[in-house]
Amino acid sequence: MSDDGDMDEHRDQDGAAGEGGPAGDGGAAGSGGAGTGAGPGGLSDLERLLAVQERDTAADRLRHRRATLPEREALAALGGAMAGLRERLAEATARRDTAAAAVRRLEADLAATEARIAEVDKRLYSGEVTASRELQAMAADVESMKQRRSSLEDEALSAMEALEPESSEVAELSDQLARHGAEAEGLREAIAAEEAVIDAEVVSEEATRVTLAADVPDALLATYDRLRAKMGGVGAARLVGSSCSGCHLTLPATELARLRAEPPGTVLYCDQCGRILVV
Ligand SMILES: [Zn+2]
Repeated sequence: MSDDGDMDEHRDQDGAAGEGGPAGDGGAAGSGGAGTGAGPGGLSDLERLLAVQERDTAADRLRHRRATLPEREALAALGGAMAGLRERLAEATARRDTAAAAVRRLEADLAATEARIAEVDKRLYSGEVTASRELQAMAADVESMKQRRSSLEDEALSAMEALEPESSEVAELSDQLARHGAEAEGLREAIAAEEAVIDAEVVSEEATRVTLAADVPDALLATYDRLRAKMGGVGAARLVGSSCSGCHLTLPATELARLRAEPPGTVLYCDQCGRILVV
C-alpha cells in the first residue's frame, strides 16, 4: 500500500504540472480519460506516463522533420544536377582543348611558313643567287609556300570558328555550375539553421521528458519503453470512447467492461495492439 501513498503525492504534482506544462494537445483527450471512473490515485502515474508519451512523440516528430527537411531533397536534386553538369563540363573542356590545340598547331605551321617565305624572299632579292635556274626554283618555292600559307590561313580560321562554340559551352557550363553551387550553399545554410532550431526543441522535449519520467515507477516506465521501441514509438495510449488511440481499433464491449472493472491504478493493456491502455 506504500504505492498508493506515492501515487497521491504524484497526483498533487500532476495537478500543478497540468496547469502549464505539457498539457497542450493532451488537454482534450485528458478530459475524456478523467471521466472513465478510474481512481485518482492510480490515474496519476498513468497520466504522467501519457505525458511522457506526448513528449516522446513530439521529439520523434521533430527528429522526423529534421530528417525530412524539404531543403534536403532540393539539395540532393541539385547535387545530382551538378554531377551531370560536371560530367558535361569535363567533356566540353576536352573538346575545347582539342580544338584549341588544333588552332595552335595551325598558327605554328603558319608562323613557320611565314618565316620560311621571308627567308627565301630575302635570299631571292639579296643578289647572292645569280643562276636563273636557281632563282626560278626559289620563286616557285615562294609561290608554293604562299599557297600553303593561304590554305593554312583558311584552316586556322575554320579551326578558330570551331573553337568558339566549344569555349562558349565551357563558359556556360562553368557559370551554371557556379550558380548551382551558390544555390546549394544557400540550401546547406538553411538546413543548418533549421537543424539548430529543431535540435534546441528536441533538447527541450527531452529535458521535459526526463522530469516527467522521474516520477513514473521504474517498472511501468521500462514496460512503456519496451513497447514504444517495438510499436512505432507509441507505448501508451488512451482509451477514447471505445477505441484505443494507439491502434485506433474499437474494443469489444465485453473487453471494455472487463477493463473498467479493474481496480484503479491497474496497468491495463489494449487486447488489440498490446500497448498500455489508459482507461
Ligand atoms: Zn490498441
